[in-house]
Parts: sequence; C-alpha cells; structure tokens
Amino acid sequence: MKYQSTRNAALTAMPSQAVLQGLAPDGGLYVLPNLRLDFDWQGTLRLDTLGMATKILSALLPDYANMDKLTQRAYAGKFETPDLTPLRQVGDNYVLELFRGPTSAFKDVALSMLPQLMVAAKGEEKIVILTATSGDTGKAALVGFQDVPGIDIIVFYPENGVSAVQKAQMVTQQGKNVHVCAIRGNFDDAQNGVKQVFSAVTQQNLLAGRKVRLSSANSINIGRLAPQVVYYFKAYADLEKKGHIRRGDAVDFVVPTGNFGDILAGFIAKQLGLPVGRLVCASNANNVLTEFIQTGHYDRRRPFYKTSSPSMDILISSNLERLLYSLSDGNAETVAALMQQLSQTGEYQIDASMLQRLQKDFWAGCCEEAGTSQTIGKLWREQQYLCDTHTAVAWNVAEQYRSATKTDAPLVVLSTASAYKFPAAVLKAIDGEACGDEFDQMEQLHRLTGVPIPAHLAKLRSQPVLHHDVINREEMLSYVLERAK
Ligand SMILES: *Cc1c(COP(=O)(O)O)cnc(C)c1O
Repeated sequence: MKYQSTRNAALTAMPSQAVLQGLAPDGGLYVLPNLRLDFDWQGTLRLDTLGMATKILSALLPDYANMDKLTQRAYAGKFETPDLTPLRQVGDNYVLELFRGPTSAFKDVALSMLPQLMVAAKGEEKIVILTATSGDTGKAALVGFQDVPGIDIIVFYPENGVSAVQKAQMVTQQGKNVHVCAIRGNFDDAQNGVKQVFSAVTQQNLLAGRKVRLSSANSINIGRLAPQVVYYFKAYADLEKKGHIRRGDAVDFVVPTGNFGDILAGFIAKQLGLPVGRLVCASNANNVLTEFIQTGHYDRRRPFYKTSSPSMDILISSNLERLLYSLSDGNAETVAALMQQLSQTGEYQIDASMLQRLQKDFWAGCCEEAGTSQTIGKLWREQQYLCDTHTAVAWNVAEQYRSATKTDAPLVVLSTASAYKFPAAVLKAIDGEACGDEFDQMEQLHRLTGVPIPAHLAKLRSQPVLHHDVINREEMLSYVLERAK
C-alpha cells in the first residue's frame, strides 16, 4: 500500500518514505488513495490506548514492523495519565484533554510518536530536523527528539514572537542533539527562512557527500497526522464504557482548528469506520475556514488578526488539501488546479458536489476575542472547569452548534492546551486582572483556582538557560550547514 501526492497520482511513496520526506516532491501532501474500509474499528475500541495506537498506526503505516514497540517507546510513562488523553464530562458536553503530555500542548501526542517513526524508517544517514515555531511546536518537537540517536533538531523561533513561558520552555531544553536559535524577525520570517534553507540545500546540493538529510516536523507530515487518529477512538470507547452511548451511536467532535491537522485526523477516524457524526470546525477571528465550510469559497485575502489563541491565527490551513483530495474522489488534477489558484489569486471555489459532501461531514463556526474571554469566565464560574483560550473558542462554537442544529447527540470538545500556557488571558477572563510577568501570573492563577500547575512549567523559572543564539534571517543557511556536518 503506497501513499501518493494529492497533486499527482503518479508520485508515490511507501509509508515510511512518506514519513521521512514529509512533503511530496511536487509540493503536494501524501495521502492514501484507498483508506481501509475493512478496518476492524470495533475490535480497536476494546483495546487500551497504546493498543489502539498500535493497531491504527499499523493500518495507516503498514510497512512498519514492531509498531507495538514504537508506541511503547513513544508514550509509556511520558504523559500525566497512562491513558494519555483523558475524557472529562463538563456540563452537557465532554472535554477531551489532549494537553497532558510532556510540554502541556496537544502537539505532544504527535511529536512523541514522530521521532520513533523516523528512526525506524531511516537508513545510515543522519537526519537534521528543521522547525520554525510560533510557540508550541518547537518545545514539543525538542522534547520528542531529545537525544534520539542519529537525529539532530534545530528550532528557530521569532525573537519577540513567542510568550515568555514558551521561550523559557525552549531555551532551557537539554539534550546533546538539540539547537535552539532566535531569529530577528517574526514567525513568517522564521518560517520562510526555513523554506529557503530547504530549497537552497536541494537545488545547490549543499549536503552532497555528507550522508545527511534535512527533514521537518511540520504538521503536513503523515507521521504527525496518523497518531492523532487514536484519540478519537479513545474518546468514543470512553463514552461507551461510561454508558453515555451505545455502540454505533454517532458522536460529534468540536475541534479548535488552525492548520486543519487535528480535525482531519477525526475525518480519517470516520473513514476507518468510527461512528463520527459531524466534525465541527472552530475558528477564532481568523475565520477563513468558517466561510469555506459554509460557502465553499476559500479566500485568504483578508485581514490577519493576532488573537489570544495564537495557534489558530492562520490563513492557509495546509492540511485542508488532504480533505479536498477526498471530496473530489481522489482527483489529483482537481486538487492541483485549486492549489495553483490559491497561490496565484489567493482564493478558490469548490463545485456544488464537493460542497455538498463537505457539509455532510463538517460544520463550522467562529468566536472572537470577547466571546473567548466570556467563555473562559463562564466555564470557570458555572462548571469549575479551567480552560485555555483555544479550548474556549471550541466550547463557544459547540454552543453555537447546539443551538443552530438542536442536536442532542453527545458533543466532545477537543482541548488543546493547558490554561497555564496562556496565564494572562485566562486570568483576565476569570478575575479581571493580571499582574507581574507570566510566571507570577501562573502562580496567581493557581492561588485563585487551586488547579495544579503542570510540574515542568512550575520549575521553568529556576532552570538554567542553555541556548543563547540570536541571528538574522540571512544567517540561517550557514547556521544549519555548520550544524549538519
Ligand atoms: C496547533 C494547535 C491548534 C491547531 O491544530 P491544527 O492541527 O493546526 O488545526 C489548536 N490549539 C493549540 C493549542 C495548538 O497548539
């Protein structure tokens, strides 16, 4: 079973090679043309979380041997709870907590597994992972790849573009194979700089003879997407165990969305047979996806807002391309044409039959800053549940969905970050005030709510800073080549 590019059916790769490459050579994303319809989803629901992970990852990445060992190494003992992603009932809804991993970000679920998949796939060559981060991905990738043999990782972050907590998380990172470097500029500078390093290295063959391969831990890699399918099964099994649903009942999931990876994993779970009802796409003020799902018109030509839920501040959702592939019945020419239109004009419109299919499985809503803050306050006052800004957006959209559709199906809201990663916004929402620096605010939030601060965040302030590099964007290539020796 081979993966192929969303833009060209003739460009194929074995699953493990797709993981190593990340992006297909034509810029498309790797997809499986025929997802397994005979997948034993019912048997999967009987397993524990690691068993589910092994079974689902083996189905999606069938050329790997010993997947059980890989999932053990990735997850066992690394999360706050052995079931990795606990489900909590909050009011009439359920919250699926995806932030119980080593860096308190939902990215941990995927970035704990990706290094294992890369090590198992790679040959003799050394791999250097390049990552530009706007905050959460960098730390989760650093922890995931720390001291992994044969792989080095370089993380670039915008010097003034991440929060104090996020910066402290990265510059205190230990490990013999990790490099953390600030870029003078914003996130786009860091991200474009990384892209330029990749193309310069390929075009000029700069690593020739060195037995080194550059790769990325970006969310377009199928090795990051596949591990996320697991928690949809896990949530469904939990609802069944607790007697809230019966086998076969449809469950709706509400997903705070940025690059469309998280929600697409839910779509894959549905393709594998799990009774997923609607996937509800929640956006903040950057609501390009809301318009798209409601009208079929994708239009990135709009203002960009910096919000309190920064991981969703995004106007080009890369993984949407995989959904287009599926909506067009696997027609790579259609996808290639839409993507070309997007890059040339900044917009595209899908046809009526694609839109109809889209709306059968997806619903969308958005929530601006005031609504986000009100939702955090309300959830705390009425349910004693402390949530972060991204989760608040999703909760708010879940309520919009309930009132618009009058559904009484169980709703699972995916929670993607600990409230302690955004202490200022959360404090303001529940108390009206936030004083001191972010570390003071964490303690203030803890005194006010009694909710424990994740241990690794609590001790950050006293940890030694190990990484001091700050460079200009033009210096990124030489920085990478120096470290790729
Ligand atoms: C990355 C991220 C998201 C968005 O997930 P996508 O897979 O990019 O849609 C939402 N919330 C948080 C906290 C994140 O870090």
